[in-house]
Amino acid sequence: MIVLDECVSPHVAMLQRVHVRLVWQRPYPSLERARPVAWTCWCRATVYELCVGGGRAFLRRTVQLDSGPDIHETSPMPITEARATWTALLSGSAR
Ligand SMILES: [Zn+2]
Repeated sequence: MIVLDECVSPHVAMLQRVHVRLVWQRPYPSLERARPVAWTCWCRATVYELCVGGGRAFLRRTVQLDSGPDIHETSPMPITEARATWTALLSGSAR
């Protein structure tokens, strides 16, 4: 794991005891052109991104393994819902 001296991106908070369990699935091809608009710090093994494309948005979770990245995503959802889910993820009330 690479530890950066100064982290500029947020880290996810410790998971709260009561939290929303997000459904993570293999990346869905039709939204490949989506671009990340927010992301958590790469100093952690697990990096989360908020991706937007085509008026929809989803969250992407990348686990940085020695064998390569292991990527999962949520289902596409309205952008406002995705932003609320992103905030919940950062605060530890969803994961
Ligand atoms: Zn960091």
